[in-house]
Amino acid sequence: MIYLDYSATTPVSYDVLESYIRATKDFMGNPNSLHSLGVKSKALMNSAVKQISDIFSVLESEITFTSGATMANNLALIGTCLANMKKGNHLIVSKLEHPSIYEICNYLESIGFEVSYVDNKEDGLIDFDDLKRLIRPDTILVSICAVNSETGVRQPLKMIRQIIKKENSETLLHSDMTQALGKVSVNFHDVDLASVTAHKIYGPKGIGLLYKNSRVSMRPLLYGSGHTNMLNPGTPAVPLIVAFAKAIRLATNDIDKRENFIRRLNDKVVNDLKKYPGILINQSKICIPHILNISLTDIKAETFLHALEEYEIYVSTNTACSSGEISTAVMALYGDKKRASSTLRISLSYLTTTDEINKFLACFKLVYQKLSLLKKED
Ligand code: PLP
Repeated sequence: MIYLDYSATTPVSYDVLESYIRATKDFMGNPNSLHSLGVKSKALMNSAVKQISDIFSVLESEITFTSGATMANNLALIGTCLANMKKGNHLIVSKLEHPSIYEICNYLESIGFEVSYVDNKEDGLIDFDDLKRLIRPDTILVSICAVNSETGVRQPLKMIRQIIKKENSETLLHSDMTQALGKVSVNFHDVDLASVTAHKIYGPKGIGLLYKNSRVSMRPLLYGSGHTNMLNPGTPAVPLIVAFAKAIRLATNDIDKRENFIRRLNDKVVNDLKKYPGILINQSKICIPHILNISLTDIKAETFLHALEEYEIYVSTNTACSSGEISTAVMALYGDKKRASSTLRISLSYLTTTDEINKFLACFKLVYQKLSLLKKED
């Protein structure tokens, strides 16, 4: 098997799995219980939270565990909008967000909030002049994805935050950092709120977190008992939290070394695929190398994906969460519906080998030739 869909999800690393199993076996108490088993579980959980907060240099109380990035995005947008209704009803998002953000915006619009979509430049960079123009006295929140999941476009969050605060010091900046964590360095202090998830960084599925600066007010979306965290009540998932802490620690090591290696793999793929007449490379200078998006001008991306699958090669069309639709990100970059209607995403990891890339390119050629021929016979 050649797995080239690391941006959809990653295999759980052995060390992370081991932490999960140990925490499950040896720490069965409910951390909300008062007896010694509960106290033992709570101590383990607290040390995992401390590790995470130390890595990101934030307060432990600024971290809320969620079921993943989708839930973190929901809390970030809906929770802050509901808590800040007296200040306004306007929010701004980019055109390079994960589909979950657009679904949340649709919901917020249905309950009376107003959403503006900030333009980007041709390379994907947020159009700072448009952002300035859109910020109003009643703008509660701006949400900008750190790294776009389809194309790898990376935004300069620190600079964006400075622009926002200059226009309106009360406006908050949220960033979905799901595709940035573990691939490039992330800094929670560049934003007021951030969402990340474990399963993109070789951790388990079912856990993510929301960073919320302590000054930000937020309305919970869930109510219940077990007040370990007011924003996500109930029994904390101690083994998942422990495994997540381990995954974060491992993923934030050696980032530069891994990025350099992945860039070389990316260059190799681009140099080969750009020779095909029916392939367009959807990449700009601000894309991270871990995500490579291409358009197939004459072949349906889904057909190509399944043809590659016959060689046990796994890639994706758009994002895993929205397969089948046109690529909003490619549309935002090139404004070309045809180009955005048949896209493949090849996502690379430090686990990817040069041998895998060579085999992928050889199979790609076979599939391309076969499907182009079939197309001509149509
Ligand atoms: N945000 C981004 C940028 C993503 O790439 C994804 C997953 O594809 C999500 C959010 C959703 O994450 P989760 O599966 O943890 O809910």
